[in-house]
Amino acid sequence: MNAAIYVRVSTEQQAEKGYSLDTQLDACRKYALELGATDIVEFVDDGYSGEFIDRPALTSLREKLKNKLFQVVIAYAPDRLARKTIHLLIISEEISKAGALRKFASVNFESTSEGELMYKFQGIVAEYEKEKIKERTMRGKRGKASKGLVISNAKPFGYSFDSAKSTYVINESDAKIIKMIFDFIVKEKIGTALICKELNARGIPSPRAKKAWIISSVHRIITNSLYKGVIYSMKYRYEKVGLTKRKRSLRPESEWIPISVPAIIDEATWQAAQKQLQANKNSAKRNLKYDYLLNGIVICAKCGRAMIISHSGCKNFISYYTCLSHKSSAYLYSGQKPCNARQIPTKILDDYVFNYLFELCYNPVQIEDYFRTAPPKEYMLKQKIALDQMVRTEKELLHQKQILLRWFQQQILTEDETEIELKSIHTQLAEIAHLRTAYTAELTIATLPPSISEITAIIRQNFDKETFSTDDKKNALRAVVAQVVVERIDDTRGRGSRPEINVQLKLK
Ligand SMILES: [Zn+2]
Repeated sequence: MNAAIYVRVSTEQQAEKGYSLDTQLDACRKYALELGATDIVEFVDDGYSGEFIDRPALTSLREKLKNKLFQVVIAYAPDRLARKTIHLLIISEEISKAGALRKFASVNFESTSEGELMYKFQGIVAEYEKEKIKERTMRGKRGKASKGLVISNAKPFGYSFDSAKSTYVINESDAKIIKMIFDFIVKEKIGTALICKELNARGIPSPRAKKAWIISSVHRIITNSLYKGVIYSMKYRYEKVGLTKRKRSLRPESEWIPISVPAIIDEATWQAAQKQLQANKNSAKRNLKYDYLLNGIVICAKCGRAMIISHSGCKNFISYYTCLSHKSSAYLYSGQKPCNARQIPTKILDDYVFNYLFELCYNPVQIEDYFRTAPPKEYMLKQKIALDQMVRTEKELLHQKQILLRWFQQQILTEDETEIELKSIHTQLAEIAHLRTAYTAELTIATLPPSISEITAIIRQNFDKETFSTDDKKNALRAVVAQVVVERIDDTRGRGSRPEINVQLKLK
């Protein structure tokens, strides 16, 4: 006779006596032998709640039941199989459908109508017990928290945990670092990125052991009320999502229970830090808007896509114009390769374009020379080649589509397969159509002869000035320049790199 043994412990119950995996297994094995089993397969769910039916070992057992591999299924008790009555009934039904008997090692009842009733009743009891346990644990937590005791024994940066007293103790050397961070933001008014840079430069160990400081750790320290001496219990509600994931949601503030811990930062300093953080955030938003002179009008010469602002990590906080094909997840996921254009430091391109136009003001002859020869032949040629390539690809795709439809008609492909392939072809076609319109429009504009006198007048009007604020620069550039098509052509890298760029200005 083939027997299946199913045992389960949830993480919370592992320590609980009488329900350990070994106890369950021993009892079930013994029982299986008594029943005359010759072949025993064991299914073990270690660390899974009985609340959900989708447990790996149970699922595997239910799969095997479908093939009628067992004559008996043994569990230690009904609540090991499932904690919800409805689940118990489902599993029970499956067992009997598979022509097997359902047996429990710890309770003696048969699959009679009476047993069925009792079985159901036990299921209800198990559910009730579970609710009670849940409520008891929450009550315990709440009680502990209201007495001012720390529940979690996690060690936040700056403290160690005294488990005997259930409270945090300040770690003096970490506390110095925390005070330093608050000094940086409150007294020197510097932002989290710069604080990061400063801490790393000074070789100060981060909370992440050997790793460097990152902006989010600094931000978390500044905003954590723990450092002014209060943490909140019952702040979050945790819900189980699926087998192993938990979802965290904020409870209403009235439910939070404040717990006092030793403070490292005084209340006034902590509040000042929050204010400064907000102020930094606001000015960062302003900077983003105004500091990059050419943001929004830079185009990658290699692939014709926009170049957008990106930043390097916090160690060398440099901003770049980066081709969209390197950034956009849409392009990455579409399976297209990013183009091989290098990113260009914003400062270099901004300064170059501005200075170039500025100097043109004092050299009108150069202006006229420049625009008489524009637009450059080489760039136009590249655009034309790209356009031809697009037309060829488009034809090829339409041809593929024809073949696909023929295969579908001949039933070589299923409807699903055809649909997937068609979808991919349509996406590519749409992308090409989009690029083609953009390229064609550009070529049309580029071939129109520029009115030189008009352009020179506009440039002079905007650039003939002795001093410029950032806003002035931005306005001047935008009054004149429609697009900056750019490519970095040097091969230098790293610290000593000297970016060389090919710039093509498209004026309005
Ligand atoms: Zn590109």
